[in-house]
Amino acid sequence: MQFVDLKSQFNIIEKDVRAAIDRVLQHQQFIMGPEVAELEKALCAYTGAAHTITAASGTDALLMVLLAYDLQPQDAVIVPSFTFAASAEVVKLLGGEVVFVDVREDTFNIDTDKLTETIAAVRGANKLNLRGIIAVDLFGQPADYVVLQTIARDNELFLIADAAQSFGASLNRKKVGGFGDITTTSFFPAKPLGGGGDGGAIFTADANIAKKLISVRQHGMGKDRYEHVRLGITGRLDTIQAAIINCKLKILDKELDARRKLAERYNAELADKVKVPQATDSAWAQYTIRVSKRDAVVSYLRDHGIPTAIYYPRALHQQPAYQPREKLSLSIAEQLAQEVLSLPIHPYLGADEQSQVIKAVRAAVDK
Ligand SMILES: *Cc1c(COP(=O)(O)O)cnc(C)c1O
Repeated sequence: MQFVDLKSQFNIIEKDVRAAIDRVLQHQQFIMGPEVAELEKALCAYTGAAHTITAASGTDALLMVLLAYDLQPQDAVIVPSFTFAASAEVVKLLGGEVVFVDVREDTFNIDTDKLTETIAAVRGANKLNLRGIIAVDLFGQPADYVVLQTIARDNELFLIADAAQSFGASLNRKKVGGFGDITTTSFFPAKPLGGGGDGGAIFTADANIAKKLISVRQHGMGKDRYEHVRLGITGRLDTIQAAIINCKLKILDKELDARRKLAERYNAELADKVKVPQATDSAWAQYTIRVSKRDAVVSYLRDHGIPTAIYYPRALHQQPAYQPREKLSLSIAEQLAQEVLSLPIHPYLGADEQSQVIKAVRAAVDK
């Protein structure tokens, strides 16, 4: 059994992918070739976003947004503590301050009550120039954008949606890509929409920011490639990646459906034994349960041929590279780091395989 099964996917789309890569080899426009514009158009259509700017990775997408927002050293950005490092890394790379907020134990996403308290505390202390919020759609479940958008607007903060794990999901019938001021995603191969390497994208309704992002993506170019009006990076998505993602986008909805069905069955057959995720709008990038005595469960599952993963074994404020200035109590994030366990949920997991996982998990927690 595999935790992520990209080979089964390749067997289905092989002809399409080989032909798409071959077209790139024929035209040789490896940088910003026609497939990139084609993908950006398709992603606008899929998400409903007015502007899509593809990027070299999900991390570069976040970095490019902060560069376009002109984040300055000492500017502070709020980030949930239970997330992948990239969400906070980009702030620190630009010399900014990360202010961590705890997450909710039911959705794993940022706790909006604690967010409000943190904003008041930071503003009250008046030490930091608080600029914005990076919300994260952990494991595929969109954060609570209805509340987040109100908080961001009332406090004059930018709101970035880090949708690296949630591409394809919807909230209140609106697709991911339309929440917050701007949304970033990742096409890392194991994400719901993956490429054949690194890749990412940015979605926004704001034409001004979209224009800046296109400049930032190419070393801050101005009227032409050798006028530099700001600092930027080499942030472009490779044409070959765009060609591959164009193929995978066509089967995404089918795959999301398969993931959702797997999640529903896990919920139905595991909820009496372990804490199951409370997600309803998820892209199901991960199916993450909570168990006590996790080490014993992991080794029992390993012995029975079930691969698992731990996202994440430490909250970010517990990491050496992300030590906050003041000791913070982010107790839910810390507790989740002790208890979370992700089970196989890729779209090609068979019913028999899922039965094996369910049986083994039930037996493991009974031991
Ligand atoms: C994967 C991920 C990223 C970074 O994406 P890359 O394409 O790997 O750079 C950022 N944020 C979150 C929450 C992620 O899961």
